[in-house]
Amino acid sequence: MRVLGIETSCDETGVAIYEEGYGLRAQAVYSQAEVHAAYGGVVPELASRDHIRKTLPLIHQVLDDAGIESVDGVAYTAGPGLIGALLVGAGIGRALAWAWQVPAIGVHHMEGHLLAPLLEDPAPAFPFVALLVSGGHTQLVDVLGIGRYRILGESLDDAAGESFDKTAKILGLPYPGGPALASLAKQGDPKRFCFPRPMTDRPGLAFSFSGLKTHALQTWQTERERAADADQLRADIARAFEEAVVETLVIKCRRALRLTGRRRLVLAGGVSANRRLRQRMDEAIATLGGQTYYPRPALCTDNGAMIAFAGYQRIKSGQHEPLAFAPRARWPLDELIPAEVGAV
Ligand code: ATP
Ligand code: MG
Ligand code: FE
Repeated sequence: MRVLGIETSCDETGVAIYEEGYGLRAQAVYSQAEVHAAYGGVVPELASRDHIRKTLPLIHQVLDDAGIESVDGVAYTAGPGLIGALLVGAGIGRALAWAWQVPAIGVHHMEGHLLAPLLEDPAPAFPFVALLVSGGHTQLVDVLGIGRYRILGESLDDAAGESFDKTAKILGLPYPGGPALASLAKQGDPKRFCFPRPMTDRPGLAFSFSGLKTHALQTWQTERERAADADQLRADIARAFEEAVVETLVIKCRRALRLTGRRRLVLAGGVSANRRLRQRMDEAIATLGGQTYYPRPALCTDNGAMIAFAGYQRIKSGQHEPLAFAPRARWPLDELIPAEVGAV
């Protein structure tokens, strides 16, 4: 069985083909970063229009790259995300499935992120705890199987990726700032500043990252007057900020494994590409006798492969959508229905 996956929930157009027994046949991602850079953030209407331009050419491209003319199912991101952007991928995906007379399935974007590590070798076995860290979400999830998710804790305000992007903006880094901030942090002195680790001194698995961004802003404003080297100051703040986010995530992940008794920890979403986070998480989870799993960096951020794979699992278990489709801007992960686990 081959499934075409289409991702258009935000500012990346992602298309891929997953084939049972083979894995990824072809994939392509187009980033709209340049379109939105001048505005310092994603402009929803511009995003929708660009998805309209890019989705079909990318579908042609991956079919050509895979050397195939037909698929057995179409998966598209049905939410959560920007509603206009979602409607483009859903409309195209649903129409193609109808034309090809194959099943269509609307995939939850965060289920896509969550299952992306299953595309790697070794793949984590169920059950496991997942830390989803992306531009819009920071969630710890107890994962019993596909569609069997229990939210253990989430951010009360900004997502981790969002706080990376906002802090990057404060430091004057170009959009999208998260990866730029992470690379600047490498030149930073880890001893110059120590930022707080929010909500780690109380029990529970909730997060709060908006205060860290404010802390970075205040540090930048008070120190820059007297700083001899503004570039070094930027790097030192970036380092302290990254260290605080990383340590906070590590503390909560260790706690989640202890509370659930699980041994396997899966990280997914854009921030899971962060090198420092992987390094510290690996060390900390190893001391608990646990094992960490990540997608390759290209599958951490938005992509079509994770949607093709999640859609394949659901179509294989017999699920599909009627002709009507209704993307959802908001869609809680724990409202999903289970799917029988397919062969990976
Ligand atoms: P969501 O998945 O919650 O809807 P999204 O799709 O916008 O949000 P992703 O594409 O998963 O999010 O990830 C993008 C986020 O990851 C951005 O906030 C970006 O700054 C962050 N990010 C990407 N690479 C890194 C990195 N190396 N270090 C820190 N943050 C990173
Ligand atoms: Mg994006
Ligand atoms: Fe995402």
